[in-house]
Amino acid sequence: NKSIIFLKHPTEFPVVGEHFEVQTKELNVTLAPSDVLVKNLFISLDPYMRGRMRNTDKSYTAGFQLGHVLNGGGVSEVIESKNDAFPVGTIVTGFVGWEQFSHVPGAQGLRALPNARTSPIPLSAYIGVLGMPGMTASLKIIGQPKKGETIFISAAAGAVGQLVGQMAKQQGLRVIGSVGRDDKVDYLINELKFDAAFNYKKGNILENLKSLAPEGIDIYYENVGGETLEAALEVMNTHGRVIACGMISQYNTQTPYGIRNLTHVVGKRITIRGFIVSDFAAECGADFARDVGSWLVKGEIIYKEDITEGIENAPDAFIGMLNGRNFGKAVVKIADL
Ligand code: NDP
Repeated sequence: NKSIIFLKHPTEFPVVGEHFEVQTKELNVTLAPSDVLVKNLFISLDPYMRGRMRNTDKSYTAGFQLGHVLNGGGVSEVIESKNDAFPVGTIVTGFVGWEQFSHVPGAQGLRALPNARTSPIPLSAYIGVLGMPGMTASLKIIGQPKKGETIFISAAAGAVGQLVGQMAKQQGLRVIGSVGRDDKVDYLINELKFDAAFNYKKGNILENLKSLAPEGIDIYYENVGGETLEAALEVMNTHGRVIACGMISQYNTQTPYGIRNLTHVVGKRITIRGFIVSDFAAECGADFARDVGSWLVKGEIIYKEDITEGIENAPDAFIGMLNGRNFGKAVVKIADL
């Protein structure tokens, strides 16, 4: 059973071999009543996992344990079962190890996907575009979008950004995105039909934003933090809303960026509200799965994935995702169904 073991807490970018590595162990599992053994097909690589590598308990998710297998969202097939709710052959999604096979005591946290074998939706979508009910809800509840308003989305070609951008277009917003590569700029404009986009690595972020949003921005969908947040506050209109989803530019550094213009929050009466994707799952999860599933099948939204083959390549792909090498939702394919 090839798996990825957590070795050491990184303080900046994690390094393969120093902070995590591949190890192979014999699979030797005895199932207790209610347990299942799953073959992992896909695992999700997410920026929040970097937070779980920190040497602190002060987080909304439990830290990874040194010497243990990393874990996260996955799509898997039950291959041995002592649980009647999850017979052999069931496709499931839930928390699994970064490994080929996971023993899941009591099938805890797993959700069966009864239609997954016959659905036209690819299995990887269950940990990607269909795993993000919080995105619609945050846009609507925190963003309070009104037709004709302008939204700015950072990390706009990523897992979150591309979905939020298309939903914002559906709501009649003018959509501006920032990304770190020119091919991502092209994707936003030509395929996702954003109104404008820029490469934050070229030129000045504030100047770019000012020229693309001459009437200011009303909503900022915050994924990166730092200088981009500072620029967004500068260009934001009175009563603007910041949907604080993530701040990836701050995850791998020991010297966080100091925002210099927070006083705009007062003068412009800006609301900044953070959220975690699971906050809205109970309220919106079912509607979200139905709506986004049907938009996907009908081609009303499109969604790019960046698939790395092989569990042994997961650490490098994870670091690549933190650096922007991924183009679309980062997943690792471990096995065929
Ligand atoms: P993405 O697919 O967007 O991948 C991460 C991207 O971040 C990279 O591709 C890169 O794109 C960009 N990036 C990396 N470093 C920087 C930097 N220094 N400055 C600007 N951009 C950078 O990941 P997700 O869509 O999964 O996540 C996006 C954000 O949403 C993250 O902040 C994440 O933590 C957050 N998130 C929050 C959730 C919640 O529950 N609140 C749930 C899921 C995600 P580029 O080429 O454009 O630089």
